[in-house]
Amino acid sequence: MPTRPYVIDEMISAKAIAARIEDLCREIQKEYDGTDKLVVVGLLRGSFVFIADLVRELDLPIEVDFLEASSYGDVMESSREVRILKDLRGAIEGRDVLVVEDIVDTGHTLNHVTHLLESRHPARLKSIALLDKPSRREVDFKASWTGFEIPDEFVVGYGIDYAQRNRNLPYIGKVRFLEG
Ligand code: 5GP
Ligand code: MG
Repeated sequence: MPTRPYVIDEMISAKAIAARIEDLCREIQKEYDGTDKLVVVGLLRGSFVFIADLVRELDLPIEVDFLEASSYGDVMESSREVRILKDLRGAIEGRDVLVVEDIVDTGHTLNHVTHLLESRHPARLKSIALLDKPSRREVDFKASWTGFEIPDEFVVGYGIDYAQRNRNLPYIGKVRFLEG
């Protein structure tokens, strides 16, 4: 449960997200033109809305799989230690793999996950994040595609939670704590 009262200020509208996903999918489509072995891997739980919109915009023969990684620590701080809570169901050796993440913040999560998946010898491994906070980076990680660069703000909505709430907002909003 959230500890302090807060409001959510809209930062990126549902319309802007949809338009950006259309553009991204045109690029992704070009990258994977002709392949029939693409596995789109969503990182649970934050990417579930993004991956749903993304795959429906892709006119490619794909498979979908999920992986859950956790970081220990405070509810609003990501940590440096990454643990795999739920692994992929399928093998990815020789496959094209596109990892889908909600936010790249310090970079530890995607850095860890991509290293893990590389060790399974996919044909090609790429990643896409809806949001990127470059000012927060602690490891040198760059997603293959990024939806929006945002400042160092705590955001929710479009799959992303605050203490498990607000995932169902159709837009990305910024959490603003109220006085008192
Ligand atoms: P990283 O390992 O890159 O620091 O962390 C990425 C993860 O931190 C994201 O998948 C997300 O779970 C969490 N995170 C980073 N920034 C935010 C934010 O503004 N709001 C929420 N809810 N989670 C965030
Ligand atoms: Mg996450």
